[in-house]
Amino acid sequence: PRVEVGNTVSFFAPGLDAAAQERRRITQALHRAIERGEFALHYQPVIDLAARRMTGAEALVRWHSAELGPLSPATFIPIAEETGLIVPLGRWVLEEGCRQAVRWQAQGRAGLRIAVNVSAKQLYQPDFLDEVNAILDASGVSGEPSLLAIEVTESALMEDIETSIAVLQRLKGRGLSVYVDDFGTGYSSLAYLKRLPADKLKIDISFVRGMLSDRSDYTIVATIIAMARSLGLKTLAEGVEEAAQVEALSALGCDEVQGYYFGRPEPPDAFARKWLAGNAS
Ligand code: C2E
Ligand code: CA
Ligand code: CA
Ligand code: CA
Repeated sequence: PRVEVGNTVSFFAPGLDAAAQERRRITQALHRAIERGEFALHYQPVIDLAARRMTGAEALVRWHSAELGPLSPATFIPIAEETGLIVPLGRWVLEEGCRQAVRWQAQGRAGLRIAVNVSAKQLYQPDFLDEVNAILDASGVSGEPSLLAIEVTESALMEDIETSIAVLQRLKGRGLSVYVDDFGTGYSSLAYLKRLPADKLKIDISFVRGMLSDRSDYTIVATIIAMARSLGLKTLAEGVEEAAQVEALSALGCDEVQGYYFGRPEPPDAFARKWLAGNAS
């Protein structure tokens, strides 16, 4: 039923609570957002701890909806996943991330690796690998596929471990890097971890946040780093906000860090001004 109040028109859905109504509004806006190009990617620097320099960036999607204003990915990504809209959105993210990698490459910043988040729904699409190949070719990254890294959460990988192993293997065969995101929160067993063709474990922000105040968080971080090293995997600690965390992670042998201490996610122009200016090597 359609309810008109003054000059605003809304659809009254009986039985839907406020949260469900909100989800519906976001879903409708998401459909239009893809056509209207309302999404942008922001970039957060990744710092190599041994060299103490920026070696890459994570692409994080941002949405400023014409109707709903700015929305956090924590709000709209789960809805995009539920509705399947993550597939076209994720395709756009991959395309734009590749285009940016090539632009920065052309501007003289060789080897800057862009990491793009890929959700379970996307990874398990039967044509995901064809899509990645087409995007690599169209963007010009195909000549240097190592410029692109794919981040998949540990829990997404564990949904279907055999398919994950097969898809990751082919991504690596194509020359891409593969990172396990939010590591430590997804219950993977050591037996599977050993078989997973990944390059890097991204230690979840929750452990890094507590590592200097909570003994068990510190132990978890130390254990992940030691285990990764023995399996031949690199480690990256997420959510680093303090110098003391940088020093502790460095002492534990963590390879890379990312977090507000070094830089927040920023639009490409701001990122380039801060991180790429005068750095044309
Ligand atoms: P994530 O992949 O774990 O990304 C890291 C999140 O931590 C980002 O939040 C980032 O802004 C935030 N962060 C980085 N450093 C710090 C820090 O020092 N302190 C704190 N408190 N937070 C920090 P953001 O951008 O809001 O993204 C949230 C999540 O949304 C991401 O978590 C990821 O799961 C998802 N997401 C973002 N972009 C995409 C995308 O393009 N595709 C997919 N599938 N998911 C995405
Ligand atoms: Ca990520
Ligand atoms: Ca993460
Ligand atoms: Ca996360």
